[in-house]
Amino acid sequence: MALRAELGALIMAMFSGFVVAEDFALLPQLENYKAPKSWRQPVAPLKISDHTWQIGTQGITSLLLIGSEGAILIDGGMAQTADHLLSNIGRLGLKPSDLKLILHSHAHADHVGSLAAVQRATGAKIVTNAESAVLLARGGANDIHFADKILYPPVKADRILHHGEEVILGNLHLRVHFVPGHTPGSMAWTWQDKVEGEDTKIAYVDSLTAPGYQLIDNPRYPDILQDFGTSLKRVRTLPCDLLITPHTDASGWVFQESIERGSVLDCKEYADIAEQKLGLKRLE
Ligand SMILES: [Zn+2]
Repeated sequence: MALRAELGALIMAMFSGFVVAEDFALLPQLENYKAPKSWRQPVAPLKISDHTWQIGTQGITSLLLIGSEGAILIDGGMAQTADHLLSNIGRLGLKPSDLKLILHSHAHADHVGSLAAVQRATGAKIVTNAESAVLLARGGANDIHFADKILYPPVKADRILHHGEEVILGNLHLRVHFVPGHTPGSMAWTWQDKVEGEDTKIAYVDSLTAPGYQLIDNPRYPDILQDFGTSLKRVRTLPCDLLITPHTDASGWVFQESIERGSVLDCKEYADIAEQKLGLKRLE
């Protein structure tokens, strides 16, 4: 009976384009990091494109790309998300060792907090850039803007990328684009896949926000405004039929029992809103 119900749910999911989520208990709160409830609310795997699944929480994106030679994880969410990610990887029919590479957006605790635990459980290699590798290795300590307020288990990079390089695993081909600003090591990732049979250029673009940052005369990051300017230009020209962001709501996604993407932004709109919020026009 249970098997029939599962089969029924699977057939429903195949027809509706997503897997129906089940009820999950909230993940535990961290003592030193009062994250909003949506960041800790797990979701069942939700299919975004033929090879791309959201396996994180309602508010924080963790993408699993499944290809011919194994899987790639982009972003792991907060430290307490690790077990949930591993269980979602299993629900998609993969063994922990099928996860080969771990990529990320930027090295803050809400996006890379779980990577050390996920790497330990899977043996996947960490792929990042030089700026992020340094922050990952210190577990978020001595952050330019947050000092030692938001720490996470440190991780060591296995491969350091240059801007524009490609990461290939079997039939998965991703390109990295550096979009410094929110952190000096911030990255965007682009790849091509099919959504409901249509060729779709997917862009996973890092946060372009500066929450409480000192933007002018910051001795730790004197070029922050120039970096944001360069990154905004870069984001506007990315191949971008479908934009996804580390904070799901920043691009208009709602991940709950299903995917709602009625008002998802494109890359240009995302950059325009960021520019307005940063007040870059006023500072010119
Ligand atoms: Zn951040």
